[in-house]
Amino acid sequence: MRRLSALFILGTALLAACDTSRTAPAHDAVPADLVFIGGAVYTMDAERSWAQAVAVDAGKIAAVGTNAEIEAWIGPDTGIVELSGAMLLPGFHDSHTHPLDGGRQALNCSFVDLDSVEAILDKVRSCALESEETGGWLVGSLWNISLFPGGNPHKELLDAVVPDRPVFLIGSDGHSSWANSRALEVAGIDRGTPDPPLGVIERDASTGEPTGTLRESAGELVRRHLPEITAQDRLEGLRYGVRMANAFGITSVLDAAVGEPDMITYKALEDSGELSVRSVLAMEWGTNFLAGGTDFERVLANRTQYDGPRIDTRAIKLFIDGVLEGHTAALLDPYLDSAGARGTLNFPQETLDQLVTRFDAEGLQVHMHAIGDAAVRAGLDAFEAARDANGPRDNRHHISHLQLIHPDDVPRFAELGVGATFQPLWAIPDAFIMDINLPEVGPERVNRMYPIGSVQRAGGLIIGGSDWDVSSMNPLLAIQVALTRSDPSGVAQGVLNAAERVDLDTMLAAYTINGAYTMRHDALTGSIEIGKAADLVVLEHNLFEIPADEIGDVRVLRTLIDGNTVYQRDSLQ
Ligand SMILES: [Zn+2]
Repeated sequence: MRRLSALFILGTALLAACDTSRTAPAHDAVPADLVFIGGAVYTMDAERSWAQAVAVDAGKIAAVGTNAEIEAWIGPDTGIVELSGAMLLPGFHDSHTHPLDGGRQALNCSFVDLDSVEAILDKVRSCALESEETGGWLVGSLWNISLFPGGNPHKELLDAVVPDRPVFLIGSDGHSSWANSRALEVAGIDRGTPDPPLGVIERDASTGEPTGTLRESAGELVRRHLPEITAQDRLEGLRYGVRMANAFGITSVLDAAVGEPDMITYKALEDSGELSVRSVLAMEWGTNFLAGGTDFERVLANRTQYDGPRIDTRAIKLFIDGVLEGHTAALLDPYLDSAGARGTLNFPQETLDQLVTRFDAEGLQVHMHAIGDAAVRAGLDAFEAARDANGPRDNRHHISHLQLIHPDDVPRFAELGVGATFQPLWAIPDAFIMDINLPEVGPERVNRMYPIGSVQRAGGLIIGGSDWDVSSMNPLLAIQVALTRSDPSGVAQGVLNAAERVDLDTMLAAYTINGAYTMRHDALTGSIEIGKAADLVVLEHNLFEIPADEIGDVRVLRTLIDGNTVYQRDSLQ
């Protein structure tokens, strides 16, 4: 903690709109550990109050008010942060992310941000060289699927670079994978192999030969032959993900798919004092969990052993469908390029209703993956069935992704109290939507994609999630896109349905108090109010005073959890 009392300027009234009704009464002689002075403090309390200064003591918010009021909390040992007009917000909440898997993949052979096929193949070549001594499998992730027609790259591209070792590369959507001929051979996939349930082996239209692209469960046919992920791999991955979260001002995450080895890893990091994000762990129900070699019911029954001061295991993840590329997302109306196919739900409705009703009765939150409008409807139907069976409960269920919502279903989020967890970074007219999705579903449905504004206007709770490492973890970049609906990189031209834009207030709530509500710790964090944990982020600019298309470039200066600084830019002060 930096001691900066020399920089403290007494009582400078920088903010006219300061709400003094919510400040602490004058306090006698309990100096705070730390005060923030002279900033634009947006508290995100129910009145959306502004303040200038905050006192933190014993890891909690002790007072919120004007510079003069907070001055009363300064003693000889009080650390003083002069904000000089910088913005202080509650720490960000990322309500759908994969810190552990994302971190693990980032430390592997990663193709993130490579924007040409040549660049990806060069990286494959260099990864192969680096791992030449160990040999065996070459595993990588995050190749940009929109660089390939139909999101469907060919095995021969990989064979030309690595002919002798099996290669398996996970795509940027997390649902498609790309294998070379050797990997297909090891997995026993050939022309005669049928598509597995809920999976697609992409094939050459004339020969029927597998192309090397595998969707959803078809990827599992190869995955099961990969070398086992070690406990050390997981630990290093989670460390990486947590550090990245803190650097983006994130103090709470919902890990959107965990198995028991992941829960063990979170607990280990908490025990070593390194878990600097509050973590809600959503246990993945279904085949992937079982593929990890663990038994869902046993782990569920014993899950509280992994709970801790910063770990909450009261959440379940259900995948309702897949993704549009490869037609595994479930649609109400047919795909346009596939003879009447609509995709399929991963569960019959009856099974889904039973599952959700059961988990709801057990006090567990259900977090769903739903991309297609049929999947969204099935999810909402299941939450309605649970409410009818159990009565209203306070489990704060939510659905993530929501690429297509039928207009009739938009009001149901508010009616059923189901949160809408969007990934705003996906709501741009990029190659993924314009080159891959548009031929699949046509312009009318493309124009309805990611309807954040519609759900918000219908009274639904808007929540923010990055789905890192599918896309950037930076909440400010996502907030910018929710306001603009255009590509922050400038590569893609135009706007994806301007009518679905929302305002800054909505998005700040999505990434703070709404996230805290969804993670069921809004009594503890999510706003800057007396008695709450000092989970805070300092931004270099007041976001309300800059153009929307500059929000994503604003730098995080400092991140604190429980009053401890867990990230700080060198340039601060
Ligand atoms: Zn995800």
